[in-house]
Amino acid sequence: MTKAIYPGSFDPVTLGHLDIIKRAASIFDEITVSVLVNQGKSPLFSVQERVNILKEVTKDIPNVKVDSFDGLLVDHARKSGADVVIRGLRAITDFEYELQLAQTNRKLCSSVDTVFLTTNLEYAYLSSSTVKEVASYGGDISKFVPEVVADAVYSKLKANK
Ligand code: ADP
Repeated sequence: MTKAIYPGSFDPVTLGHLDIIKRAASIFDEITVSVLVNQGKSPLFSVQERVNILKEVTKDIPNVKVDSFDGLLVDHARKSGADVVIRGLRAITDFEYELQLAQTNRKLCSSVDTVFLTTNLEYAYLSSSTVKEVASYGGDISKFVPEVVADAVYSKLKANK
């Protein structure tokens, strides 16, 4: 059984992330989407809110689980019994950082490999930051995120005002 872990901030999860999750779920036996507890960033949603949103949007995919982690990705992968890390590649600009990350992780733990899935061209431009920026100016984000996520983003921005 091949278990894979898909780490990220997911603040919030977009249709691009969801496309990667669905495709990874059809390749691997089990996928754990892991929300990174990143002290350096000031997120829109708390880790628990992001986990809940991810659970909601992946509820119909039976081999997908959601959790969160603090600390080294390779340690979390090992603890979860995952031997593969999934990352999405949107454009060449993602590549340098992702390659460095994958090579560092491999050096830290040689039993964990990174597999890159290239984004569906339809979502190549899409990022969580763009979604938040468009929404903060009152723009329509329904083409970028699932409906439940769009509602959560608008409510959160309203509450933060
Ligand atoms: P991070 O803060 O670690 O970059 P993200 O949640 O932004 O976390 O992204 C998690 C992973 O999903 C990364 O590998 C990123 O390249 C990928 N990703 C982000 N947006 C898209 C998209 N639109 N299409 C495909 N992959 C994406």
